Amino acid sequence: MNCQICGKRATIHLTVVSPSGTAEAFFCVNHAGSAGLSEDQVQKIRKDESAMSAYVNFVESSRRIPSTDEMARIGVLEESQAPQDRERAHLLRRIAEAILAKQDDSNNEGSGRQAK
Ligand SMILES: [Zn+2]
Repeated sequence: MNCQICGKRATIHLTVVSPSGTAEAFFCVNHAGSAGLSEDQVQKIRKDESAMSAYVNFVESSRRIPSTDEMARIGVLEESQAPQDRERAHLLRRIAEAILAKQDDSNNEGSGRQAK
């Protein structure tokens, strides 16, 4: 989904629940203020975004799924055993698997498929 103000890729997805039903809103980080987020929250989203692109770069260059220690070093994971962090680590591994699967696909296209 795209930011409903400027049309760039939205990173903030809000669902507003009211008695008459739910409404959805999408904003990019630059227009997060319009979503009613505080400066602190916007800073945190920016930090998360840059940590996330560092994580993607790590997976693409190392071609493997990072350990939880590495995830913490990159900044995408808190070093705690809290349930929400274990869930996040699981999600991060899924993301890494998807990146690696995509890399495999493009490698196969580049070199031509070998007969088995
Ligand atoms: Zn925007």
